Amino acid sequence: MDVGETGVGETAVAEEFRRLYGAAPEGVWAAPGRVNLIGEYTDFNDGFVMPLALPHQAVAAVSRRTDRVLRVHSADTPQGVVQLDADALVPHSDTGWAAYPAGVVWALREAGHPVAGADIHLASTVPTGAGLSSSAALEVVTALALNDLYGLGLSAPELAVLAQRAENDFVGVPCGIMDQMASACCTDGHALHLDTRDLSQRQVPFDLAARGLGLLVVDTRVKHALGDGAYAERRAGCEAGARALGVRALRDVAYEDLPGALDRLAAAGESETVRRYVRHVVSDDHRVERVIALLDAGDVRAVGPVLVEGHASLRDDLRVSCAELDLVVETATAAGALGARMTGGGFGGSAIVLVEEPDADAVTKAVTEAFTAAGHTAPRVFPAIPSRGAHRLV
Ligand code: ADP
Ligand code: MG
Repeated sequence: MDVGETGVGETAVAEEFRRLYGAAPEGVWAAPGRVNLIGEYTDFNDGFVMPLALPHQAVAAVSRRTDRVLRVHSADTPQGVVQLDADALVPHSDTGWAAYPAGVVWALREAGHPVAGADIHLASTVPTGAGLSSSAALEVVTALALNDLYGLGLSAPELAVLAQRAENDFVGVPCGIMDQMASACCTDGHALHLDTRDLSQRQVPFDLAARGLGLLVVDTRVKHALGDGAYAERRAGCEAGARALGVRALRDVAYEDLPGALDRLAAAGESETVRRYVRHVVSDDHRVERVIALLDAGDVRAVGPVLVEGHASLRDDLRVSCAELDLVVETATAAGALGARMTGGGFGGSAIVLVEEPDADAVTKAVTEAFTAAGHTAPRVFPAIPSRGAHRLV
């Protein structure tokens, strides 16, 4: 897929729906992927995150069915139509990619919403497995379509919570709430300041083009197998740290108290590993607040060094980076970028790079050449234009 291509074209999706299912869809919806500007591994610590929606999106054509049959089809997999019984959806059953939309139907029904069945055809331009939340885009587009068609009246944050439940409890991926909230709630030209404890949120103006700046996404096109176990291990370490400090979550440790908290953890016999995890989470929550203050003050260029600090913390304290992500950050900053960091879960996936717009091509070239020199697969680089969250197209 050409990652420059961001729109799917609702007409093509509707036409394919008609070809597959023999009638026009009742509607067509879109939900985007996302990148996170700052605040990583903070969302399962009740902390702060700051994602923005990408122009890349999943588009779904959907109709209701009265017979409790659920049929799903994706233009992006070789698998044909997957047919499931909406009354007999079983978590963790091996339904492949169909588990994402099916999980949403399951979560809606578990929450008592009268969803009988549906025909769904979707197509997405969100690169999969690149840390850009192609999975959340699928879930959120399904949730929004069913919400509209079945008149459920759920808000965007409520849909995000149900979509997260689908991924956690049906698909079986223990993700936090950031991805689904970003896909459901982001708005054009803004980053979303989200408090993952109470889901309170603020749209923070993030109009880079007006300031002569650009944000690049560098998809390293690697995904190291380590990722899944490492996520669970980081999560357990953070929870152990919070328990030892007597707080509900690490979000409750004030940044000013971080040195004291680290001393108390050492005195309580907590491992050096747990102390590093705590230092990352507490300092990254603080970096979110610093970035917000800079954006509110209109000092967008000063965000660059905060991104670099965040990367160092993910690399050295949380240890979730990898050679390819480190190479992006080192090369981009050496080539004149204002800042860069890995984004998402790490162990591959994507990095973001903040650049002066006229430097974008030179930075892209430097990163691409460094990947060639190191023998890595060529990365895919494209602009992260802060885009609109999930919405109905037709
Ligand atoms: P990410 O969300 O970062 O892209 P995940 O591993 O969470 O990575 O989700 C990727 C998975 O989501 C894919 O392996 C596939 O099962 C599913 N998926 C994403 N986009 C599509 C699509 N367009 N069609 C079918 N399945 C998709
Ligand atoms: Mg995902």
